[in-house]
Amino acid sequence: MKNIAVLTSGGDAPGMNAAIRAVVRTGIAKGWDVYGVQHGYAGLMSGDMRQLGQRDVGGIIQQGGTILGSARAPEFKTEEGRRKALRQLQSRGIDGLVVIGGNGSQTGSNALSQMGFPVVGIASTIDNDLYGSEMTIGVDTALNIALEAIDRLKITASSHQRAFLLEVMGRDCGYIALMSGIAGGAEFMVIPEVEVKPETIANEIREAYRRGKKHAIIVVAEGAKYNAEALIQYFKQHSEVVGFELRATILGHIQRGGMPGAFDRILATRLGAAATAALARGEHGVLVGLNKGQITTTPLSEVVKHKKQIDLSLVELARELDR
Ligand code: ADP
Repeated sequence: MKNIAVLTSGGDAPGMNAAIRAVVRTGIAKGWDVYGVQHGYAGLMSGDMRQLGQRDVGGIIQQGGTILGSARAPEFKTEEGRRKALRQLQSRGIDGLVVIGGNGSQTGSNALSQMGFPVVGIASTIDNDLYGSEMTIGVDTALNIALEAIDRLKITASSHQRAFLLEVMGRDCGYIALMSGIAGGAEFMVIPEVEVKPETIANEIREAYRRGKKHAIIVVAEGAKYNAEALIQYFKQHSEVVGFELRATILGHIQRGGMPGAFDRILATRLGAAATAALARGEHGVLVGLNKGQITTTPLSEVVKHKKQIDLSLVELARELDR
């Protein structure tokens, strides 16, 4: 192996830059040329890439987002799109690719790998919904941003005896909602994995006030059946029965932009180094991830087959603690 390329794809996540830096520097240390592809698979298909040196990735470890840019590229889902990408790689003599991204991106990297090209994926998404890594790059930072929002809302909620609803990201996965809710001591978490009716939430909040609680924070995952919009509507329609006011905050993209924390920087650095190490030993068609504290590889064909499950015992724990 002589030349490799690295790209970031799908939703950006804090820590992606630290991963790019590690791929570039450990790749160069192996004597390779490393190319950075702009705008994910879109740039791979159009050949938008340039060689990166050690200095090109200086001063980025603390930056959120991705210096390479990311994009959604539907054309890559077609075989013709992927053939275009392969032609670009071959014309530059690139013989290995590192894909930093989440579920969709790794489905793409698996498809490319199935066509015979050596690809290694790096688990990176703030949603933490990727099979093959207990924690993905960006989750911890996003979680801390959600947590700060909860802490702040709690202060104002206590002052005004109001219930606050905070909608957080996570697509179909309730990880950020559940974990930020546990860490923030929220009264109720609404996640896609556990269906709950709005009247149950209203009852629990009323009960919490009766027990003398001064605040009520409901954390809702964007992918839950009753998301912020649905719950606000319900609480408006039933305001007399519910008996308290509900204010909603949708955190949205604020969750993505943060400077990566220490955990994400270290995870990204380890995974970046693990990706080039895997390519160097001829192991590809795999995702590098973190499992039980160790850096592991999981075949991409397995990654795309499985849906990562949330630990439901944590839902029980959250219920026990809301007293
Ligand atoms: P994420 O990686 O954050 O889950 P997306 O789901 O938006 O992000 O996927 C990012 C990109 O990965 C898509 O724009 C597309 O180029 C590629 N991709 C997604 N699904 C597939 C697929 N089934 N086959 C090939 N490429 C895919």
